[in-house]
Amino acid sequence: MMFPEYRPRRMRASEPLRRMIRETVVATDDLILPLFAVEGKNVQQEIPSMPGHFRWSVDGIVRIAKEAHSLGLPGIILFGLPGSKDPLGTGAYAKKGVVQKAVSAVKQAVPDLAVITDVCLCQYTDHGHCGMVDKKGAVDNDASLDLLARTALSHAEAGADMVAPSDMMDGRVGEIREGLDEGGFSHVPIMSYSAKYCSAFYGPFRDAADSAPQFGDRRTYQMDPANGREAVRESSMDAEEGADMLMVKPALSYLDVIHRLKQEMELPVAAYNVSGEYSLVKAAEEKGWIDGPRIMMEILTSIKRAGADLILTYFAMDAARLINKI
Ligand SMILES: [Zn+2]
Repeated sequence: MMFPEYRPRRMRASEPLRRMIRETVVATDDLILPLFAVEGKNVQQEIPSMPGHFRWSVDGIVRIAKEAHSLGLPGIILFGLPGSKDPLGTGAYAKKGVVQKAVSAVKQAVPDLAVITDVCLCQYTDHGHCGMVDKKGAVDNDASLDLLARTALSHAEAGADMVAPSDMMDGRVGEIREGLDEGGFSHVPIMSYSAKYCSAFYGPFRDAADSAPQFGDRRTYQMDPANGREAVRESSMDAEEGADMLMVKPALSYLDVIHRLKQEMELPVAAYNVSGEYSLVKAAEEKGWIDGPRIMMEILTSIKRAGADLILTYFAMDAARLINKI
């Protein structure tokens, strides 16, 4: 009997050997922590479907931001829950809006931590859609662009290091770029949620951000989960409009899309490991069905292996502690 000359098992025999040839290592530099800001002081509201995550008032956001920085994370992404909502989502671009206040407080307390802001209207509109709604109840693309640009500009004015439009309106990246440039913020990059799918994996986030649409759904602007080629088209358009970084959201069921963008596009690719992907792991872990930390690292590794340069994830702090062996 002839043995093969090459025996792959030789290089798997011990952990030092495995470490030497490991192709993908998740580092704290890869991870961005999403945080939810609410009005008030000393507020810490539990998010039942996302164990370990809370809605924080600005003081709490600052505390967590300091912790994130000390664990080696390069940045956070902020979402806001305003005190009140209206049809035009005015809270999104208010000078003293909750995100704007959180951005400046974090930048003051932890200047070396990058603060990214999510740019959308759905947390601020009473109808819960990501854009303006016309008389017939349809989302009006072009009427939404100016408000999105105003929102991004207000974040930059508050000190945001990068803005991240997630609304999926056509043409918003170009409009935001123009608004930032005219406002004196040509140095602020845009991370575009370029391939954002209409996904059931966002369920727990909508609890967290109180942003479920009051009627209809988001299928007319978010992408059909069945489409891969369209993600390349969407991302190319955003790149042409001036995006500095692209994003695939969700991550785990879209590893092929991450891989594809990494192959076909020249911009850095981020992936959003979304709330549902987090909550599935936490729930199964609570039941004792899976090894939570191992599953977490395997998921994050798979996202990076697929091609993600950056991972926005609710696991960021847990993973950072594990990586730092704390
Ligand atoms: Zn939205």
